[in-house]
Amino acid sequence: MLTDTYRHKGLRKRLIDHLRNDVGITDENVLEAMNKVPRHYFLDSSFDEIAYEDRAIQILCSQTISQPSTVAFQTQLLKLQPRMKVLEIGTGSGYQTAVLNALDAKIYTIERQKDLYNKANTIFQELKIHPQTFYGDGYAGLPGIAPFDRILVTCGAPVLPKNLLLQLKIGGILVIPVGEKVQKMLRLTRNSEQDFSQEEFGNFTFVPMLENKTK
Ligand code: SAH
Repeated sequence: MLTDTYRHKGLRKRLIDHLRNDVGITDENVLEAMNKVPRHYFLDSSFDEIAYEDRAIQILCSQTISQPSTVAFQTQLLKLQPRMKVLEIGTGSGYQTAVLNALDAKIYTIERQKDLYNKANTIFQELKIHPQTFYGDGYAGLPGIAPFDRILVTCGAPVLPKNLLLQLKIGGILVIPVGEKVQKMLRLTRNSEQDFSQEEFGNFTFVPMLENKTK
């Protein structure tokens, strides 16, 4: 059973203060959403003590739950408005999905590892949250459901996936780390059918965005 103790709540509050005061996250809606979502639910219970440290932690299939400061930073870059249609690539533990859900986004999320896809679905059910989850290859996006207001990629893409850019609404935003070993955080805005503008926000390290799904 998932329990959120006073100790967890206290550690989480301290993490949020760190994100605000040391990391420089300014979007109070993002901080509030992260304060609502118990990160330890998305980790093996052996990681309970470190769940609220600002670090990435191993999950199944040699993947990681992103570092809280990275989750906060990417979410802030999205500039979400309520009820926006958001595509996430890389469901992983489901933590980032739950943070987007707490911000009242309408979420579609894709994961290529079957075990992670299954595990995240179980947690979403326990939490009674209802993102639409897909087992597949994020490089394809979701052409049947596009266009999206926002697309968030939570794995490192070696190159910018054109498919995803073309699944943005006009005015839509794609936040994506791009690069081989180290990634540059990019924010692309679709100004018109053919015109995109790009901003850069420093270096990050993500697990790689890989092609094709697993069994
Ligand atoms: N948002 C996640 C981050 C997990 S790490 C969280 O909060 O826990 C990135 C995830 O992207 C991994 O689970 C990995 O399996 C997944 N991934 C990598 N390439 C992918 C692809 N092409 N399509 C979908 N998911 C992918």
